[in-house]
Amino acid sequence: MAYDAQNIFAKILRGEIPCLKLYEDEHTLAFMDIMPQADGHALVIPKEAAETLFDLSDQAAAACVQTARKVAQAVKKAMDAPGIVVLQLNGVAAGQTVAHCHFHVIPSSLAALTKGHGAHMEKPEKLAELAEKIRAAF
Ligand code: 5GP
Repeated sequence: MAYDAQNIFAKILRGEIPCLKLYEDEHTLAFMDIMPQADGHALVIPKEAAETLFDLSDQAAAACVQTARKVAQAVKKAMDAPGIVVLQLNGVAAGQTVAHCHFHVIPSSLAALTKGHGAHMEKPEKLAELAEKIRAAF
């Protein structure tokens, strides 16, 4: 399927809608998930236009994993989390809701992630506070 340049993460990448940025480099961007499944839930996305992991270049896929590792380490430290889930869904059938490839970094356990995706919009002040803490942990 053709990449939809109007998806929400493409708009974030173009600066058309805001995000709470945690980290950025040449190939990737990391920011807070606005409907977190746990406090400190972050997202890592490639700058390349790709809907799923299968559409990504090898270089962009490698960059995403490197950034996910950096972000996961910062989230772990900031949230004092015993464990971190790095989750990545491909296709509607797998539960993907935003059509731009992304990696979830969630300080939780897989068993505790029962809230489901996009279930609860977090307060902007709380997200900003958590983002500040995570940025300080890089
Ligand atoms: P998926 O279900 O596609 O794996 O995950 C999409 C994620 O994007 C969800 O966790 C959802 O909360 C998050 N999300 C959806 N819209 C926005 C948005 O406008 N901004 C941010 N920061 N996250 C979003």
